[in-house]
Amino acid sequence: MVIGTSLQRSDNAVTLQIVLSTTVVPSATDATNTYLWKSYTGGFGATFSSSVTWNILRQPSPTVEWHEVVWFREEISRCSFITWLSMLRRRPTKDRLISWGLAVPDMCVLCSSQVESHQHLFFECSYAGAIWSKFCGRFIISPPSDLSAAVSMCLNYQGTYSLQVRVVMKLIVQVIVYFLWRERNGQIFREISHQPMVFFKMVDQQIRDILLSLSPGQNDAHSLLELYFWFIDLFS
Ligand SMILES: [Zn+2]
Repeated sequence: MVIGTSLQRSDNAVTLQIVLSTTVVPSATDATNTYLWKSYTGGFGATFSSSVTWNILRQPSPTVEWHEVVWFREEISRCSFITWLSMLRRRPTKDRLISWGLAVPDMCVLCSSQVESHQHLFFECSYAGAIWSKFCGRFIISPPSDLSAAVSMCLNYQGTYSLQVRVVMKLIVQVIVYFLWRERNGQIFREISHQPMVFFKMVDQQIRDILLSLSPGQNDAHSLLELYFWFIDLFS
């Protein structure tokens, strides 16, 4: 095994190289040798598990409630990614850019009336509020006030078809967050903007596309689509 010189900058890397280069590799033909893998309990067994190995190697963090709203079977990967970073408040919104010392205009480009922050861009902005309102009525009473409220809305819904309704809610949340961030970037970097109704149609089309792409047996896809139509009152 060759270890790059960049790894040898620390004492641990030097020690690792010494150990690896002086350890005799067990021979498969020698019946007295066998490979053993560490288990959850700290013991060793003959079976290798990537998940067990990963969990032994990593430093686990406390479980967050919102993970179910970001990562779920019907998710749209690019929307989950943006929503994940938004949950962590890691999007480079203008309030953060200014806090880092950058000289940028602080106004939200979607409404031009408030300082852009996570809280404002995704919930308090009148542009965002107009989009959230399009999905209110049958299952969502009023637009969520912040990310925490959006998570609670998705996880705590009780009623008919609650499991399926929660999936549709989670899709609505992550697609709206994703498209709001994209709209914000489009206006800043490409000077392209969309009226709220056009924006709503893009969100609507994205949700329909993912629901139509689900296989019939996957969480009762046809019911999900029908529930979504209920959301936007197509059947009312
Ligand atoms: Zn705004």
